[in-house]
Amino acid sequence: MSYVYLSLGSNLGNRKQYIQKAIKALGKTIGELTKCSSFYETVPDGFLSENNFLNVAAVFETSLQPAEILQHTEQIEKQLGRTEKSHDRQYADRCIDIDILMYDDQVINTPRLTIPHPMMHKRTFVLEPLNEIAPDILHPILKENIETLLQEQLEHTMLKEKNPDRK
Ligand code: ADP
Ligand code: MG
Repeated sequence: MSYVYLSLGSNLGNRKQYIQKAIKALGKTIGELTKCSSFYETVPDGFLSENNFLNVAAVFETSLQPAEILQHTEQIEKQLGRTEKSHDRQYADRCIDIDILMYDDQVINTPRLTIPHPMMHKRTFVLEPLNEIAPDILHPILKENIETLLQEQLEHTMLKEKNPDRK
């Protein structure tokens, strides 16, 4: 058995219900829900929209492989009515987005799947909910735990607000 850490987000329609429905569907397909964070209201990051997100992190115990999990998450996104995929990092409003953050301590790089999720350590909206349910898990590439990654990201954001030219 393995643990898979997911990030769920919605910024369209009944956001809470979309996330709850997705978690229920995941429980029926990928494995048993071990832990789920509370709901976090966040502003869109990476694109302009007046629709705020709700974000959640969840961990499931699973016997499926990462590629199989991706098939299920994509099918659940479709079932719940997500029509558009993101292209070339052009993000858009979505009723549900399910991203795979980590799968045990595995590192995976295929055209379809990058694990750990390549943006997870830069996104407060991912790290905050994840820190609520799994502060101590180690990022297998950066070798830092989630609590530390969140602290670093919050500091980075603060410094950037003081000096917008900073990278
Ligand atoms: P985004 O979540 O970045 O807005 P999408 O949900 O539309 O974009 O997904 C874009 C592509 O990202 C998917 O086709 C999927 O194959 C790929 N992908 C790569 N790594 C991951 C991951 N760890 N979790 C989810 N999708 C991933
Ligand atoms: Mg996604």
